Amino acid sequence: MTMDEGKPAHLPYGRQQVDDDDVAAVVAALRSDWLTTGPRVDAFEEAFAEAVGTEHAVAVANGTAALHCAYHALGVGEGDEVVVPAMTFAATANAAVYLGARPRFADVAPNTLLVEPASVEALIGERTRAVAAVDYAGQPCDYDALAERLADRGGAAGPIPVVADACHALGGGAQGRPVGSLADLSTFSFHPVKPITSAEGGMVTTDDAALAARARVFRNHGITRDHRQREADGAWHYEMTELGNNYRLSDLHCALGLSQLGKLPAWVEERRRLARLYDAALADVDGVRPLARRPGTEHAYHLYVVRLTTDRPEEHREALFRRLREGGIGVNVHYVPVHLHPWYRHHLGTGPGLCPNAEAAYRRILSLPLFVGMGEGDVARVVDGLKSGLAELGR
Ligand SMILES: *Cc1c(COP(=O)(O)O)cnc(C)c1O
Repeated sequence: MTMDEGKPAHLPYGRQQVDDDDVAAVVAALRSDWLTTGPRVDAFEEAFAEAVGTEHAVAVANGTAALHCAYHALGVGEGDEVVVPAMTFAATANAAVYLGARPRFADVAPNTLLVEPASVEALIGERTRAVAAVDYAGQPCDYDALAERLADRGGAAGPIPVVADACHALGGGAQGRPVGSLADLSTFSFHPVKPITSAEGGMVTTDDAALAARARVFRNHGITRDHRQREADGAWHYEMTELGNNYRLSDLHCALGLSQLGKLPAWVEERRRLARLYDAALADVDGVRPLARRPGTEHAYHLYVVRLTTDRPEEHREALFRRLREGGIGVNVHYVPVHLHPWYRHHLGTGPGLCPNAEAAYRRILSLPLFVGMGEGDVARVVDGLKSGLAELGR
């Protein structure tokens, strides 16, 4: 008898869907003349810009590199400040630190966990060079409200620019406009749990040609002409005009990303369908409540997050988490508020009390499994697990 016998299959909180045509696309790239900086990079960038309704898209190595490029493009540097929400993956803040800037942590709305424009405004100062907003769980932030708050706050430099960390929200939208075109710059990740994958990968989108050009140069060592341009010109000369990185995304990755992008509309629909199943099944479950929906937006449902509404949420979340995991249900917690991480406490002196809403939410949230390829039976299994777990806690 093996250890696994009789145990139901493990259900992760998220996973990729890779079909035969995705595999064929990568194999074709592998057999081509260009393994990197080739035509599949251009094709992925063009198709992506088209999909999100922007003029420019710059493919990079991962979502963190996309944030680094976006902040750099905006001129973020030594001594500057970037306002970021507390409720996000650490990378949103880390990318500012890479540039010598200091992240300032804004609080989130308790019911959506989207950044509070008023909290952002309160942190704006002379050193604020950019504001980052995170489309948490796949739901776009209120970029109009943010822009209004920031319009007059940049002094002679003009409005303070906004970066959308849209790593959760590819395929979503607001007021009929796609995510990717809602802020001055938007950033995406193609990690396997994200809406589409290129294994590793990221993208920066913008309508601003100068910002896109700065991101491109930063992606390639700070060199102004890449090897294809040099080849086209029949010249060898190139110049490094600033300190950049190697953040290029290979043609193999772009082949996979491009193949996946074609399926995005159907996949987002499927995520919404699964979310509606959760909504319906959880509507009369005492003790958990899904996050609120923001009117006028189209949710991409990267995550399905519930809040525990019990009297001792932290203890109950811990018990539920362990019980569900033991039953093979891969629940997760997104996220530890960034200002509570030891590195930030140590280096920036942050700690509890800075963002009360994010801290209170953190104690009671749970991300339920949600991915394309999940069945209705899987949703029922998660809901049953939650119900019996809550019953065991005496709810
Ligand atoms: C995934 C993610 C990132 C980082 O993307 P990587 O591709 O893992 O570098 C940044 N911000 C958010 C909100 C994310 O979910």
